[in-house]
Amino acid sequence: MNESRVVFLVVFLCSISVAQTQPSQRAQGSFFAQPQMTPAQQENFPPRFLAELDRIKSAALADDYAYRQVVHLTENIGPRPSGSPQAKAAVDYVADEMRHLGLDVQLEEVKVPHWVRGAETAELMEYPGQVASTTQKIVLTALGGSTATPADGLVADVVVADNFDELKSLGRDKVTGKIVLFNEIYDKTKAAAGLSFVAYGEAVRYRGMGPRAAAELGAVAALIRSVGSADYRLPHTGFSFPAGIPAGAVTAEDADLIAHLAAQGKVRMHLMLTPQKLPDTTSYNVIADLKGSEHPEQIVVVSGHLDSWDLGTGAIDDAAGVAIAMQTVELLQKLHLRPQRTVRVIAWMDEESGGAGSHTYSRDHSSEFLHHVAAIECDTGAAHPLGFETRISASAADLLRPVLSVLDSIGATAMQPSNYPPGADIAEMSETGVPALGILQDGRTYFNYHHTAADTLDKIVPSELRENAATMAVMGYALATMKDALPR
Ligand SMILES: [Zn+2]
Repeated sequence: MNESRVVFLVVFLCSISVAQTQPSQRAQGSFFAQPQMTPAQQENFPPRFLAELDRIKSAALADDYAYRQVVHLTENIGPRPSGSPQAKAAVDYVADEMRHLGLDVQLEEVKVPHWVRGAETAELMEYPGQVASTTQKIVLTALGGSTATPADGLVADVVVADNFDELKSLGRDKVTGKIVLFNEIYDKTKAAAGLSFVAYGEAVRYRGMGPRAAAELGAVAALIRSVGSADYRLPHTGFSFPAGIPAGAVTAEDADLIAHLAAQGKVRMHLMLTPQKLPDTTSYNVIADLKGSEHPEQIVVVSGHLDSWDLGTGAIDDAAGVAIAMQTVELLQKLHLRPQRTVRVIAWMDEESGGAGSHTYSRDHSSEFLHHVAAIECDTGAAHPLGFETRISASAADLLRPVLSVLDSIGATAMQPSNYPPGADIAEMSETGVPALGILQDGRTYFNYHHTAADTLDKIVPSELRENAATMAVMGYALATMKDALPR
């Protein structure tokens, strides 16, 4: 785990804006008659190739392969936190599936952290207006990597800070020995307007860096208001910088309760979190190649991350991404379409707990990055796709327009440029110049469920998952089979 990655990720998450996507970018007319195509587009996307892409799309929309993978990963295997037996089973499962499809499979060894959730309870022991001999239950969960309280918990007064500036102005005198609650509110209005990732980016800074900031001022524990728009008193977990103090997230409802009472007077809490940090362990990225017929050394990555948080079963985050990457090659094999370049499925390990999988891949494969033609990741859910979030050159984006015309019938025609890599696991590749694409989705409800106990299979709409599979497969095959390697 390194600090720069989390800072980077926070910046990255702040950068994504679904609402900036303009459906008006939809291409005009049938793609079979392309009067507006440039000579380079015509050379790279002759009618026969566009018809193949159209066949892939149609096959994807009639295929439940990805959904069946999500079912197995979430229901038969279950939650897949880094270092867990379920994460290992998921590695073996995906590797086997890829071998059955006839791909060349390698397991790339990754050292991962192994943190295990324990008991997590809290009560308000003392607060203004308290009825004699009663307490109030607080619903919370430990943040990933949190240290433990003593086995019987700790008792301390709570101070509320709405933001980092407020914490700073409270100062060491008022923070030492206390439990700090960060009460930064996730902006639901932004989310409703399609800017959920912006809202997330603003609030998630407190999850990442709040506990450390509180510890630096002498706090005995740090709590944050859960990040996201869940309205059913669900706490939201996620990665937090190791701060050396217990760190948790209370539900938005409980954050309101504590803040209201603390505004009236003293609030004292009993907090018990007993997670354990076990020794780092060995896990794997699953790397499965469908070798290119003409340029096997040139690689197009299609990917999602296999690990998940432990509260739910990791359906939208991110069994869906892995499943649609798997479906990309399943479709090509079923349709007997051999890409000219290698299509490489990667099921990344440890995106949630530090990104060891993507660091390891960058370390082991950086000498090949010049031949990595492009990398796609889907790690924003499974809702209706709008197109792509991209970090590619303007000339590359222009050259790919005919691919968007194939996706016009499902509405996935946006090509939204981003200054930041559109996926955490492809970030390092992108930083070295590999063209990077993420699937841009309608993310308005994503943070109702993300990292909560409600990230479960039922949140996936099968028809929307098929649209996502079509979007990744069409773009993956296009990048792997167009005449020229995508310009950088
Ligand atoms: Zn994810």
